[in-house]
Amino acid sequence: MSVNVHINSPNVKYTDTHIVSQYPYQTTSVHRDGNKVTVTPRTTEMTFSTERHVPQLGVMLVGWGGNNGTTVTAAVLANKRGLTWRTKTGVKKANYFGSLLQASTVCLGSGPEGEVNVPIRDLLPMVHPNDIVFDGWDISSMDLGSAMERAEVLDWSLQEQLRPHMSRMKPRPSIYIPDFIAANQESRADNVLTGSMAEQVLEQIRADIRDFRRSSGVDKVIVLWTANTERFCDLTPGVNDKAENLLAAIQDGADVSPSTLFAVASILEGCAYINGSPQNTFVPGAIELAVQKGVFIGGDDFKSGQTKIKSVLVDFLVSSGIKPTSIVSYNHLGNNDGRNLSAPQQFRSKEISKSNVVDDMVQSNSVLYQPGEKPDHCVVIKYVPCVGDSKRAMDEYTSEIMMGGTNTIALHNTCEDSLLATPIMLDLVILTELCQRVTVRPQGEEDFMSFHSVLALLSFLCKAPLVPSGTPVINSFFRQRTCIENILRACLGLPPQNHMLLEHKLQ
Ligand code: NAD
Repeated sequence: MSVNVHINSPNVKYTDTHIVSQYPYQTTSVHRDGNKVTVTPRTTEMTFSTERHVPQLGVMLVGWGGNNGTTVTAAVLANKRGLTWRTKTGVKKANYFGSLLQASTVCLGSGPEGEVNVPIRDLLPMVHPNDIVFDGWDISSMDLGSAMERAEVLDWSLQEQLRPHMSRMKPRPSIYIPDFIAANQESRADNVLTGSMAEQVLEQIRADIRDFRRSSGVDKVIVLWTANTERFCDLTPGVNDKAENLLAAIQDGADVSPSTLFAVASILEGCAYINGSPQNTFVPGAIELAVQKGVFIGGDDFKSGQTKIKSVLVDFLVSSGIKPTSIVSYNHLGNNDGRNLSAPQQFRSKEISKSNVVDDMVQSNSVLYQPGEKPDHCVVIKYVPCVGDSKRAMDEYTSEIMMGGTNTIALHNTCEDSLLATPIMLDLVILTELCQRVTVRPQGEEDFMSFHSVLALLSFLCKAPLVPSGTPVINSFFRQRTCIENILRACLGLPPQNHMLLEHKLQ
């Protein structure tokens, strides 16, 4: 059941079409001169405007027939139909546990009944996941019913209920360039676009997006890459360094990765594009194109299991004044993603994506770390078919504590990979859609501005957050979550959550 949040303030106006809030944005500017640090508080008055009309959202998944693609489609269908199913431990009911927006809450303050917490989804008008219409592409032609069975994620009695609906869905043929994903994926590739030139396949993907928009009647389309991890592509001056060069390279038939072709097609169709895998889809030319066209892009790599814990645990250790000196992570998984990652070049993409996740937390503490010093950080991934989608992640965190002592934390995490990734995929598209309806006018500016095309607000949901060039990358779980919460609060003219609770601390 949804809650109706209404703000009672002269700074907030509800018109028929918009929620408009006046918001004092408080920051500081800091000057450091040797040991002397001068901090100057600053306030900029801002007007936030949020469109109230929630559009019908269509989501096109690249890799629709994979474990994540089938699981997200099945989960939404099961929730929409309110399905229940029996397992050996009792009756289960469809839900959205693991979704920041649907299943976590924010505290709005307290009243006579005590503290009031509401789900994030009720703060502002947002798309409900049950209303999303899915479509997509896959290099495997299997219908979604059979692909769901192949994924081995959902309980069989739930699959039996979903099968008639899922079987009616079939992925569109996709771009397959064998060199970019592992050779072991070749046997799956029976649904591929035949155009030999990059430009032809790009035009086909654009036509698919237009066709989906027209035939489904959705108002907006967002494209999400949840296909296999590709190898990194080379950054080549004159080819992918600028928007103009990238478009020319595609016309000339240069070697552009399938994921970059999908990103370019989406951007040219005015559709936001999100990358759920680690590869460097967003070459500088693709980023420049998104900025030129004013289209949101986001990524990289869903932050679902081991990395999410890392961004919590290292935050906890470093912010407690404890010094992590080594982080070693082993994974073994037996799904098709694991099979693809068993090839060295695709593993390398994942290794890079997982490697920088502690950097901001380490750099924030000059008491513990000298400039340039980092903990040892090692990531191992092995393919073990037997465990299927139930990825095992084992981590050892070694830290230096007081007076030369050592603290070791060892964790074992059974991830159930696609069930962790699915709610993140929903949060990514719903948050992106909401951001398309928010504009901000800083004091003194004439026009309202939208968020930067590189949508850094999605960082909470991504292992290797993509941010506008020259801006800070935040990996810390708590900082990322607070950022989302406080921006949504600003849209309602509410002050940032400060947790001071002074009203209970004075006498
Ligand atoms: P999967 O192998 O089950 O699914 C990927 C699908 O993509 C397959 O059906 C494959 O046929 C298809 N595919 C490959 N290349 C394609 C192309 N060019 N065009 C269209 N389809 C193509 O993998 P998954 O478990 O669903 O994971 C998907 C991606 O998400 C992987 O890259 C994985 O690394 C990433 N990821 C997953 C998680 C998680 O927790 N599940 C977390 C972070 C990132």
